[in-house]
Amino acid sequence: MNAPVAREKLAVSELSVFDHPEFKNHEQVIFGHDAASGLRTIIAVHDTRLGPALGGCRMWAYKNDAQALTDALRLSRGMTYKNSLAGLDLGGGKAVIIADPRTGKTDAMLAAFGRQVDRLAGTYITAEDVGISSKDMEIVAGETRYARGTKATGLGDPSPYTALGVFIGLKAAVAHYFGSDDLTGRIVAIQGLGHVGMYLAEDLHNAGARLVVADIHTPSVERAVSEFGARSVDPKTIHTVEADVFAPCALGAGLNDGTIPELGAPVVAGAANNQLAEERRHGEELKKRGILYAPDYAINAGGVISIALAQPGTGDAKVRDKVVAIGQTLTHIFERAAALDLPTQTVADQIAEERLALATR
Ligand code: NAD
Repeated sequence: MNAPVAREKLAVSELSVFDHPEFKNHEQVIFGHDAASGLRTIIAVHDTRLGPALGGCRMWAYKNDAQALTDALRLSRGMTYKNSLAGLDLGGGKAVIIADPRTGKTDAMLAAFGRQVDRLAGTYITAEDVGISSKDMEIVAGETRYARGTKATGLGDPSPYTALGVFIGLKAAVAHYFGSDDLTGRIVAIQGLGHVGMYLAEDLHNAGARLVVADIHTPSVERAVSEFGARSVDPKTIHTVEADVFAPCALGAGLNDGTIPELGAPVVAGAANNQLAEERRHGEELKKRGILYAPDYAINAGGVISIALAQPGTGDAKVRDKVVAIGQTLTHIFERAAALDLPTQTVADQIAEERLALATR
């Protein structure tokens, strides 16, 4: 039996959907429930102008339904922009399951989620996200053909493709800022050596870069020090290290009022989602300081590209080509931002919106 999440009761009037500040023209918001397994899920479909809405499923011990709804809406709209900018013929959506992934996850709940996704008949395609593994997705995929990110549906773990895209995007940023994409001797400060950060460290090391690393998980730091000759620093100071590039590959909101004035590198290019604590204000702040920022959802799209384009048994050549194109997308963003004197994040949004506006249903 799954452990129920400690829930805060809300007054019914507190859970507005159409008037929610993050609603932003969502096409569908589905609240799904399964009494037998205890599944509580919200599936948000933001925009299907480019194609079916693709976005992962997050399992989290949300304190209340309002918090879960906010996350689903915000993440789902983010996928519309990410998929559009990556040139995929897919719209944006996201699902959340209200449960603690460590104590509340059951096979029955995952299967019930799969049936909820199946009822949408392909309007929404799911995959793994925080709290949901590739193994969990296999259970979901047992109930619906609209699940991706498993070995049976494609290439499995998307992290190596995310890391490849970040590596290519980081080189594009270095080329734009320094005039050459040669990484020999360039210093890169990596924050977070998880699934993506470790692959990135390896690629950068092989390309001749010098690494400074930080992670709260000591064995990962030890590995990067011994295998890639990295220098390790306190996680609290990694953003201040004097380097050519700062690569945030841990959690979101790392670029904020506290850290931006302390940044030690003129280029920020990393995998983390939602790096800017406040998109508009902190994007402008980085620009004002002459720091070149590779917009997070442009540089970290390799994973979603692998999930979207992989076909079982066909290899990964097509996926790799599209991931490598992230470099051109970023160069285009940097050049247009310079020409228009705009923050790079604003330009990324413009390009994504232009493609959406051209889409016919
Ligand atoms: P992960 O959980 O495997 O790795 C995150 C790492 O950051 C862990 O090693 C953790 O110990 C470390 N960390 C946490 N707090 C830290 C801190 N304060 N300072 C330094 N290190 C810290 O996650 P991941 O899959 O490697 O993803 C990294 C980031 O990239 C996340 O923001 C994720 O949303 C984003 N992202 C990942 C993918 C993917 O394919 N995995 C795709 C797109 C975006």
